[in-house]
Amino acid sequence: MPPVFRFAPSPNGYLHLGHAFSALLNADLALASGGRLLLRIEDIDRTRCRPEFEQAIYEDLAWLGIAWDGEVRRQSDHLEVYREAVARLSAKGLIYPAFESRAEIARLVADKETVAPWPRDPDGAPHYPGIGKQLSAEKRAELIAAGVPYALRLDMAAALALAGELSWQEFGCGPEGETGSIAARPEAWGDVIIARKETPTSYHLSVVIDDALQGVTEVVRGADLFWSTSVHRLLQHLLGLPAPVYRHHDLVRDAEGRKLSKSTGATGLRELRAAGVSPLDIRTMVGLAAAV
Ligand code: GLU
Repeated sequence: MPPVFRFAPSPNGYLHLGHAFSALLNADLALASGGRLLLRIEDIDRTRCRPEFEQAIYEDLAWLGIAWDGEVRRQSDHLEVYREAVARLSAKGLIYPAFESRAEIARLVADKETVAPWPRDPDGAPHYPGIGKQLSAEKRAELIAAGVPYALRLDMAAALALAGELSWQEFGCGPEGETGSIAARPEAWGDVIIARKETPTSYHLSVVIDDALQGVTEVVRGADLFWSTSVHRLLQHLLGLPAPVYRHHDLVRDAEGRKLSKSTGATGLRELRAAGVSPLDIRTMVGLAAAV
C-alpha cells in the first residue's frame, strides 16, 4: 500500500516559513514514495479560527505548488465523530469532568508551589491540580445541570493501567535527537483535556481520530509536537486505532532562534510573496533542495 501523508494546519493565522517547510517536506516525501498527500484543516478552536485564514491556506499552498489528493477534511464538520469517541472513553471509565476555571487552576498551582515544584507537561503547562476526579456522580450531575463550564479530562492513571507500555516508530527526531523506537511517556502530560463543554474534542483527540479515518500512515510534523505523540499513542490504543509512523522535523526559527509564531510578519508567506520572493526561493530559505 502506498504511504499516506497529511498536512494539517490550523486556520488561526497566516502560514509562515515553518508551515511551508512542513507542507513541502510532506509533499516531497509523498512524491518520492509514490504516496498520497492529504490536507486537513484543524479548526476546532472556534474562537481563534477564521474562514479568511482557511482561504489563505489554499492560496498559499497553491502558490507553493502543493496539490493534495481528494477532499479536504475540515475538523469542525466532524464533531459528532469526536463526541462518539469521547463517549467510548467515558464508557470505559477513563474520563471525568473538571470544573475549575483557568484562574482557579493557576491559583491552586501557585498554592501547591509554595511547598514544592508542581509537575508540568512537556509544553510547560502545570498538571491538573484540581479535585474533579474525586467528585461524586451526584455532584458532577448537579454542576453540569447548573451550567458550570467543565473540561473532560483523561484519568491518566486508569488509562495507563489499561494500556501498559507503548512506543512509536520515529523516522525523524525529537528535541533531544531521539529517534528509532521511542517509549511513549503519556504520564508526562497528567490528566490531559480530551474535550470541553463547548467543544466536544481537543487537538489530541481529533488528530488521532482523523489520522486513522483518513488512513494516514506517515505523520510528518514539527518537533514541537514530538512529545504529544505519547498522548496520541495512548489514545490510539484506547480507541483501537492503528498507529502511523512519525517523522518530526526541526522547526524553522527566526534570526534570534525563536520558534516562528502566527504573527511573525517577516516570515509570513503572504508578505514574502508580496515582496517578490518566489516559491523556489522559499524552498531554499527552508533548506530544501530545489526539486526531488
Ligand atoms: N494543527 C497543528 C498545527 O497547526 C498540527 C497538528 C499535527 O500535525 O499533528 O500546528
